[in-house]
Amino acid sequence: MLKGYVPPYNATVVQRLLDQGAVLMGKTNLDEFAMGSGSTDGVFGPVKNPWSYSKQYREKRKQKPHGENEDSNWLITGGSSGGSAAAVSAFTCFAALGSDTGGSTRNPAAHCGIVGFKPSYGLVSRHGLIPLVNSMDVPGILTRCVDDAATVLGVLAGHDPKDSTTIQDPGKPFMLSSLTDVSKLCIGIPKEYLVPELSSEVRSFWSKAANLFESEGAKVIEVSLPHTSYSIVCYHVLCTSEVASNMARFDGLEYGHRCDIDVSTEAMYAATRREGFNDVVRGRILTGNFFLLKENYANYFIKAQKVRRLIANDFVNVFNSGVDVLLTPTTLSEAVPYLEFIKEDNRTRSAQDDIFTQAVNMAGLPAVSVPVALSNQGLPVGLQFIGRAFCDQQLLTVAKWFE
Ligand code: GLN
Repeated sequence: MLKGYVPPYNATVVQRLLDQGAVLMGKTNLDEFAMGSGSTDGVFGPVKNPWSYSKQYREKRKQKPHGENEDSNWLITGGSSGGSAAAVSAFTCFAALGSDTGGSTRNPAAHCGIVGFKPSYGLVSRHGLIPLVNSMDVPGILTRCVDDAATVLGVLAGHDPKDSTTIQDPGKPFMLSSLTDVSKLCIGIPKEYLVPELSSEVRSFWSKAANLFESEGAKVIEVSLPHTSYSIVCYHVLCTSEVASNMARFDGLEYGHRCDIDVSTEAMYAATRREGFNDVVRGRILTGNFFLLKENYANYFIKAQKVRRLIANDFVNVFNSGVDVLLTPTTLSEAVPYLEFIKEDNRTRSAQDDIFTQAVNMAGLPAVSVPVALSNQGLPVGLQFIGRAFCDQQLLTVAKWFE
């Protein structure tokens, strides 16, 4: 729909980077309209994970070097901001921006062995970010270390008159001090995040990380986020409903693609949207419109909003009980090969992959994925820290200590 489209103004995040002298090298690939968890559904084709060509992985898979056997075993980057993660991971740039509505910055960061940071909702302006779910979208930051993420956050954060949801005083600059003593910290481990689909390797890195905090004197406690199991379904109802509304602007008239049919305006709308959207986007528009039908609205949309509040309150309760940060996995497993990813129903797989990340967006909290170790396959695994709303600096300080 927006192929070749050049916007007439810069997003606030882009303008703030330019104002500070940043060099913008290019735009990166992603799933169409940021819908996905694999970066396999983009209009420019799927994004390849640079780790597919790492020595460790090739040796483990006994794969031929890049070029000889290229199409057989390459790995997905995760998504939807997979192009940004690949660009940072392959050292082509210092940092990249992504968007994070349900995990799209943290998920590819984990799969590409880099830091992926989703700031608190309201800390960074969304002006110019194409909306997926307005009440959950946040521009994300992808870097190779936590300090770099804090540097970029310092440039981006702050009130923007063009985004009324941004807070007045972000408490800049975000300079991270080195934490030398973690003994005053209380780390929460949500018991509902120990799902059966979690790979045993990720699980063992998760518990090793908890042990590390404990051995350094931090208090590590098991906590409960009781509404976790509703999170994916709730996100799905809210996301598709907002998509149905947000995508209505792409009608072939104002901007973007327009088909050649000119029999009637309605026929032009329909053909433009059929040609301009992939089936993931079209599927979500249809599903969302179903949830928004007069007879379904109360049963689905309103109910999902109430469940979202319960999910957000779970976090409030845990933080009110004295927990400083939560420690969780970022993804169920390391990156999988593309051919494996598309074998199953891609969308089901995408939905499952967001189990650890989506609830955070529904609660508007800051969260960061930090690379922890390499798996047996020689691939990166990330762990996630979740902080209190607007305690982004504290969150990043803990993540920096850990990395
Ligand atoms: N995977 C989720 C989705 O498809 C999240 C996407 C995102 O954060 N942009 O909606």
